[in-house]
Amino acid sequence: MSGGGGGSVSGGEAPPAGLCGRCRHQQTVRNTRGSVFSLCRRSRTEPERYPRYPRLPVERCAGFEPRDRSERGAGDAA
Ligand code: SF4
Repeated sequence: MSGGGGGSVSGGEAPPAGLCGRCRHQQTVRNTRGSVFSLCRRSRTEPERYPRYPRLPVERCAGFEPRDRSERGAGDAA
């Protein structure tokens, strides 16, 4: 069989964060109880516009920026 699905996603039970789940500004945080939260890093610079823990799922956000798909492999980013 082909496929080669290296499942390394185990343990990452992230909530359905909507846009945040694909946003480069998202940071997942786990508390002592084991719950995972979606933290918006934009809240550090613009706390008035972006809540630290936005209500999920986020469907619309002016600050959304998609993550780079070409993170792996030889990066061509200077
Ligand atoms: S910028 Fe918007 S979409 Fe991105 S993590 Fe923050 S709240 Fe979510």
